[in-house]
Amino acid sequence: MADELEKERWTRRGFLGASSAALAAGMMTANNAAAQIQDSAQKTQGDPRRSEPVQKNPALDAQNADSVNPPPTDAGGVPTFKYPFSIAHKRVHEGGWSREVTVRELAVSKSLAGVNMRLTAGGVRELHWHTAAEWAYMLYGTTRITCIDADGKSFVGDTKEGDLWYFPPGIPHSIQGLAPDGGEFLLVFDDGNFSEYETVLLSDWMAHTPRDVVSKNFVVPQAAVEKMPHKELFIFQAEIPGPLAEDQRRAAGALGPSPIDFAFRTMQMPPTKRTKGGEVRVIDSNTFKISQNIAAAVVTVKPGGLRELHWHPNADEWQFYISGKARMTVFATGGRARTMDFEAGDVGYVLKTLPHYIENTGNTDLKFLEMFKSSYYQDLSLSEWLSHTPPELVAAHLNLDKTTLDMLPRTKAVILPE
Ligand code: MN
Ligand code: MN
Repeated sequence: MADELEKERWTRRGFLGASSAALAAGMMTANNAAAQIQDSAQKTQGDPRRSEPVQKNPALDAQNADSVNPPPTDAGGVPTFKYPFSIAHKRVHEGGWSREVTVRELAVSKSLAGVNMRLTAGGVRELHWHTAAEWAYMLYGTTRITCIDADGKSFVGDTKEGDLWYFPPGIPHSIQGLAPDGGEFLLVFDDGNFSEYETVLLSDWMAHTPRDVVSKNFVVPQAAVEKMPHKELFIFQAEIPGPLAEDQRRAAGALGPSPIDFAFRTMQMPPTKRTKGGEVRVIDSNTFKISQNIAAAVVTVKPGGLRELHWHPNADEWQFYISGKARMTVFATGGRARTMDFEAGDVGYVLKTLPHYIENTGNTDLKFLEMFKSSYYQDLSLSEWLSHTPPELVAAHLNLDKTTLDMLPRTKAVILPE
């Protein structure tokens, strides 16, 4: 049994060797995709247990090499923990688009959901609120966000790539694309069942309130409110807004602006940890005060680097892959484990306490986000666990000699190599 495993491992290493060669060749001939497809087919050839005599979907197979040809350490039924935004339905409007990955798309993702949204310059995600908290990461461009706090005081701010925002449940807000090309962003909600189709929208509310009541409420003649929309806007095209200071001044009115900063400039903060293998920025309510129910890490792993073997004692992890390529194995207890491959636009998910790692399998930087339904970020690493346990006890478990034990990292590296 052990021999067989060892042989499989060796064979797989051979396959991976071929893979790198094909990849390098593909790069040189600018024919990467074709090389990868051919490589994927080669991987399963020569092993009748793994070969697929009937052609399937070679492009998809090439993107999911660890599903098509799982490492021998994978075992048992582990529900899928990947969903690409590419196959999520896109709601297209004048002014932008929106698509979501929730528990309905990715069954394992019960505690968090995400929305990927694009707004053109002037495009508006209309004034609304919802029962879930909203955490956001700017992926591209610039947007203007507005809200009022629980005391009714206004917040208006501009955000650019790498910036965050956070709106607590029931806090009304809006997002609008700025010049020259609007923005694209990721929204994360602290409820897997969240839906962009079920938020409280200003236009929808007004469309479903008798016009005489609206006129009485606003103390204006009924004729003045007759032109209000009869159905929701959700996303619509408007004029590009004017200077920020002017919007801030007019929104503040006599009450003055909110003392709360609902936005966070991630890149103005130094990395929480930087190693030879990459860097991580942890943002939770310690640094971004208003973000009371979502903690996050922005992670960059260099080619060949490893987000080390670790787990999160406090919460499920919702991942979004911004760029590069990765594989992740989730060890799901009871001898079950699964490895899946990720690239830009993919969502990954890891249940609370389950061990995992993320390896950069590409030849460019891997950048991804980790989000947790928690006020604080928390992880424990395998190395810090083992290096702070009596060595004889560890040795008795793992059949490691003293020299090897002494070489284990003594602290949490987060990203390897250190
Ligand atoms: Mn919202
Ligand atoms: Mn993790």
